[in-house]
Amino acid sequence: MIKEKKLAFYNLRNYENLPQIQSLTKEQKFNLQVISTVLPFRTNNYVVEELIDWSNIPNDPMFQLTFPQEGMLSEEHFNKIATAIKNDYPKEKIREIADSIRMELNPHPAGQMSANVAFLDGEVVPGLQHKYRETVLIFPSSGQTCHAYCTFCFRWAQFVGRSDLKFATDESRRFLNYLKRHKEVTDVLITGGDPMVMTAEKLAIYIEPLLAPEFNHIRNIRIGTKSLSYWPYRYVTDKDADDILRLFEKVVNSGKHLAIMAHFNHRVELSTKVLQRAVSRIRSTGAQIRTQSPLINHINNNADVWSEMWREQVNLGMIPYYFFVERDTGAKEYFAVPLWRALEVYRDAYAQVSGLMRTVRGPSMSALPGKVAIDGIAEINGEKVFVLNFIQARNPDWVKRPFFAKFDKNATWLNELEPAFGEKFFYEDELEEMLNAATRRLQKTLIESEMIA
Ligand SMILES: *Cc1c(COP(=O)(O)O)cnc(C)c1O
Ligand code: SF4
Repeated sequence: MIKEKKLAFYNLRNYENLPQIQSLTKEQKFNLQVISTVLPFRTNNYVVEELIDWSNIPNDPMFQLTFPQEGMLSEEHFNKIATAIKNDYPKEKIREIADSIRMELNPHPAGQMSANVAFLDGEVVPGLQHKYRETVLIFPSSGQTCHAYCTFCFRWAQFVGRSDLKFATDESRRFLNYLKRHKEVTDVLITGGDPMVMTAEKLAIYIEPLLAPEFNHIRNIRIGTKSLSYWPYRYVTDKDADDILRLFEKVVNSGKHLAIMAHFNHRVELSTKVLQRAVSRIRSTGAQIRTQSPLINHINNNADVWSEMWREQVNLGMIPYYFFVERDTGAKEYFAVPLWRALEVYRDAYAQVSGLMRTVRGPSMSALPGKVAIDGIAEINGEKVFVLNFIQARNPDWVKRPFFAKFDKNATWLNELEPAFGEKFFYEDELEEMLNAATRRLQKTLIESEMIA
């Protein structure tokens, strides 16, 4: 029997009540205050009581994952905030400084904002992104938060301010109309934040309409979530845990595929009884669980951590899916791993496991033109190069065409790479055209809606 747990959040205002935190020095607590003035900080009682090994802080991966760490801000940014706090600046002023620092941290990477906008009858469909032909992303308005915040998260900007992605339920008709019209879409990916922070009832508002006959072209419904890692009680003892499972069953019984895209960063997250129970309950509905994670310095920059994690996932009945390169945003200096190292960790881990775990693809950069995988490092005509290829692309025709970049020991992201054997990557002209067209369309729409208003 799993004992019920009631979700309790910890953040800057109340974390000092934790008995576990008493070992932190005054200086460590001040650092934490400074960093979380700029970057979001939220953890919860499950993470604190069952995942973090308090005899191993600050190095413990789960501590690194949810508590702000020294080094996440540059010295310059850190000092600005530290000075403001030490000198008791008014709250408003501190917020202003924090906002200006956030603007310097690339809060909206990979052109999420303009390039993936979906239009219906000349209007923007809010809360929806359509980047790859087959798959539409939905951001429900009440799913834009999480059971805890990952320190490295690329969506950090939406947890600290207003979000341009917010999406009211009464607008859900528009996303449904969009999907009805787009017969090429086979997959809907409900994402966030974390959609599993919603009640079963709320989640059903987004999922149940898709089971009607006019959505027969939607074959796969995916839910992107970190709840299995941060709050597995969601599926076991929460008040509406059974309702969630019944909703999953309903999707499966309708003949569609339901995929829980579960985010795990470390084997520790798979170790508790309640997680194992949650996985088995979800699997009993007929839903599949696929797993994904970025490679993150200080958390899982180690091939053995990955191979053990994949083995354990398959053992529990989950399917390893993506190995990501961490995005170029937020505390990137602290968490980034160079591309050559990402390949090394991926390869070493992949080489250690059987074929059942080799379903995992990567190292993949989810970048402006698409998901670019680093396939290897090679020497061609005496030049050392990265061998790259698209796993997923804005133009499906770009997929699986190998291309080459000059080897660069320091590069951590696609935009830091230079083409080998030529001036440009093969897709660049076409990409620019696509982005220009998207911008023109967005401007035209905005101007028209202003003329109406
Ligand atoms: C990764 C991703 C998808 C899904 O891609 P698959 O390869 O089908 O898993 C869809 N949309 C966006 C924006 C993505 O980043
Ligand atoms: S759970 Fe996902 S969206 Fe939420 S903070 Fe972590 S990475 Fe970001």
